[in-house]
Amino acid sequence: MYIAMVASECAPVAKVGGLGDVVFGLSRELEIRGNSVEIILPKYDCLRYDQIFDLRLTYKDLWVPWYDRAVHCSVYFGFVHGRKCFFIEPHSDHNFFHRRVFYGQRDDDQRFAFFSKAALEFMLKSGKNPDIIHCHDWQTGLVPVLLYEMYKHLGMTHPRVCYTLHNLQHQGLTGEHVLRATGLNRPSYFFHQDRLQDNFNPAAINLMKGGIVYSNFVTTVSPRYASEILHTSQNFGLGHTLHVYRGKLGGILNGVDYNTWNPEIDSHIPCRYGINSLADKYENKKALRQRFWLQDAYKPIVCYIGRLDHQKGVPLITRAIHYCLQNGTQFVLLGTSPDAGIGHHFWRLKQRYNDNPDCHLELGFNEELSHLIYAGAEMMIVPSLFEPCGLTQMIALKYGTVPVVRATGGLADTVFDANHSDRPCDERNGYVFNDFNDQGIDSALHRAIGMWYTYPNDFQELMANGMRCDYSWNHPGQHYLNIYEHIRDK
Ligand code: ADP
Repeated sequence: MYIAMVASECAPVAKVGGLGDVVFGLSRELEIRGNSVEIILPKYDCLRYDQIFDLRLTYKDLWVPWYDRAVHCSVYFGFVHGRKCFFIEPHSDHNFFHRRVFYGQRDDDQRFAFFSKAALEFMLKSGKNPDIIHCHDWQTGLVPVLLYEMYKHLGMTHPRVCYTLHNLQHQGLTGEHVLRATGLNRPSYFFHQDRLQDNFNPAAINLMKGGIVYSNFVTTVSPRYASEILHTSQNFGLGHTLHVYRGKLGGILNGVDYNTWNPEIDSHIPCRYGINSLADKYENKKALRQRFWLQDAYKPIVCYIGRLDHQKGVPLITRAIHYCLQNGTQFVLLGTSPDAGIGHHFWRLKQRYNDNPDCHLELGFNEELSHLIYAGAEMMIVPSLFEPCGLTQMIALKYGTVPVVRATGGLADTVFDANHSDRPCDERNGYVFNDFNDQGIDSALHRAIGMWYTYPNDFQELMANGMRCDYSWNHPGQHYLNIYEHIRDK
């Protein structure tokens, strides 16, 4: 099958969070299974150009209709760790992708509406005729809308669209100007509850809703999250739409790319190890301590890696830092915040613990460093308020780092409590708590830290159980292919 992935991220060249990992990992798996996959991305100025091989201009003059003019674009091609990627670069005064950041600009709605339009225009003009267009999150929600309302009539009758919801918190609310810009026009037609009109703000267009309404199949990134967004209030206002389209909605657990995230072959860590050489993990613990000037003491290291965002449970992350330091544990954090207030909060914490030999907070994005932390720590907290899938706990499992998570979304699908799970003992792999409060995380940490000190052999058993879990792309890859097969134009 011929699949075009249209996305705003792809690891490691353009990665903010899990979306980037998924686009890369799924594409790789689909290719291993004999399909042809091309990834279409914006040509951001902040791409990791050192990770693109053989970047070259492949389509010189792509004119993308935009309002009543056209924007001149160039399209580049390059390999990202073996994946075929096209990068669209617009030349206009807007400088849509020359902002030194991926997201967080006031005109994000226009930047990604433009990208969606440009991706289709590129496929049309270059004669690409994929069986499946797979798009992701609100940034590319307009792709199926444009395909069925416009590009189909220009000859693109063959492709079918699979649309993946990675996070319903961000839906891409915008206004009528996007209809005019993209040439969809007809506001009275699109401002309709059955089409793009936001379910709660009648003056707004909702790009994610457009993706749900117009695509042939909608997936979300874990079965539990699929159920939560259908049956609880965790759908940020899209409940009715999801209910209407529940017949084409499914939850597929994300995979982890074990070619990138595997302590046996990881080139970013000082000492490789596996389930039969767990002792070597401690060389990485030593290296992590050296890197962060932590003292060498008989204590476990607990870590947090991830965006510092409301969703991730900022009060509980803060609580965990205090709890760990007061209970014989070292704490390491790697994270960035898109929110100035939250960023400030963690800077203050960092200053407070600057001289503490058991704590280091690294505020920044550093892919290579994250590998060392996964390898060197013994526990990882993921106390999210909600979590569509969550990759960090699955990566941690592979590295023998025991996750301590809140039972929500994909966390509940992947982590099984050492004491309370109804699974057989050899399938239990972490610690799980329910209540989003201090007592919840304290009690889970208490059990985890207690086990580390009191029953080290049992703790090692838990680490090994986690390393044996198969959260590779093998199963999800097949699920996606089944969906593609189900919707494709035969
Ligand atoms: P989300 O997609 O909500 O951000 P996920 O758990 O699905 O969260 O994916 C997070 C991914 O981003 C993981 O690969 C994690 O290692 C990586 N990551 C998050 N923050 C950082 C950071 N500050 N530095 C390096 N990698 C990070």
